[in-house]
Amino acid sequence: MTDFQLAARVKRIQPSPSTAAAAKAREMKAAGRDIIDMTVGEPDFDTPNPVKDAGIAAIRAGETKYTPVNGTLPLRKAIAARIKRQTGQDYPLDAITVGGGGKQIIFLALMASVDEGAEVIIPAPYWVSYPDMVLANDGQPVIVPCSEAYGFKLKPEALEKAITPKTRWLILNSPSNPTGAVYDEIELKALGEILERHPHVYVLSDEIYDEIWFGEGRFTSLVEAAPLIRDRIFVVNGVSKSYAMTGWRLGYGFGPPLLVDAINKLQSQSSSCPSSISQAAAVAALTGDQSFVAETRLAYRRRRDIAVEMLNSIPGLSCRAPDGAFYLFVNCAGMMGKKTPHGGKIENDLDFVLHLLDNGVAAIHGAAYGFSPYFRLSIATSEASIREACKRIADACKKLL
Ligand code: PMP
Repeated sequence: MTDFQLAARVKRIQPSPSTAAAAKAREMKAAGRDIIDMTVGEPDFDTPNPVKDAGIAAIRAGETKYTPVNGTLPLRKAIAARIKRQTGQDYPLDAITVGGGGKQIIFLALMASVDEGAEVIIPAPYWVSYPDMVLANDGQPVIVPCSEAYGFKLKPEALEKAITPKTRWLILNSPSNPTGAVYDEIELKALGEILERHPHVYVLSDEIYDEIWFGEGRFTSLVEAAPLIRDRIFVVNGVSKSYAMTGWRLGYGFGPPLLVDAINKLQSQSSSCPSSISQAAAVAALTGDQSFVAETRLAYRRRRDIAVEMLNSIPGLSCRAPDGAFYLFVNCAGMMGKKTPHGGKIENDLDFVLHLLDNGVAAIHGAAYGFSPYFRLSIATSEASIREACKRIADACKKLL
């Protein structure tokens, strides 16, 4: 068999490192090793029963056919109502599109708008997929490091500096994966003021964790904080994280109708539409009783408090308490240069997470998110597992000299 000729766009990108790390942890577990998996990027809770029932009812009612490309009318109405509830903003139904996960919506938004060489500003630490999605669509990621001292958030001055005539997008993610950082209204307004002066720059605001945040009142969306640039904001959201529906593959986006139309066109030529069954379930999730969201938010918050306290008591590690999402981004600078019991040396955060793996905890190294020396721990797991994992991390750190 001759070598298959792959497209340049595929050679430019990597498989998602978080998926790869999770696969390695699973493999070790399957081989009988006792590993606590803190790599997972999905809620450990089950999809709420009323949502499952709606999916089953849809199957029984014969809702098993193609739907409109951009999602069913009941779903887009439910999304519009949710946007109104969450942000106070009105969006017409044709400004909303539904796809097979927020991930697919982001990919299609970039495919629809990025020409060769167009620049996309990505604050680091970033969600692993953004740079590769930009590269896959022939764009140029422009990574802007955001220091821990400023809560891992993009400063307006840094944004201004990164903008060039080639800039197409800024990707903002609040609450953030991997840091849990959340931009408040004042910070969003300050970024909005910079963007007002650069009318060629659009913002892809990934708000998929908007229900999982630990502040008072309501989370602030960029469309609410920066109304003057609303026409240039594309918001991505979905049901995966808020309603523990990752496997249903359903996400949505809303914003400039021209972009939404282009996404629909691409979707019509690729997937045709998202799953009819998942759409029916998503309607139930968005319009039904929301107590699941409130309960899980409290659970994540309790877990965060436990983990942050335990991690900060380990000499050489430090961890900011994240304001949202279900991840901790832990500073392990104090471990660099130390010797492992096997005579190795911890040179970087990958070495450190491999040492943790040796000691029974799977985590993901900061370099995967473009920011070192840190590691990401997911707290989408039980309090008992979190306590045990933190103990193992403490023991692993003690072994380093
Ligand atoms: N954005 C961020 C920041 C994420 O962490 C994820 C899931 N890991 C997504 C988007 C995509 O989620 P989904 O495709 O399940 O909607």
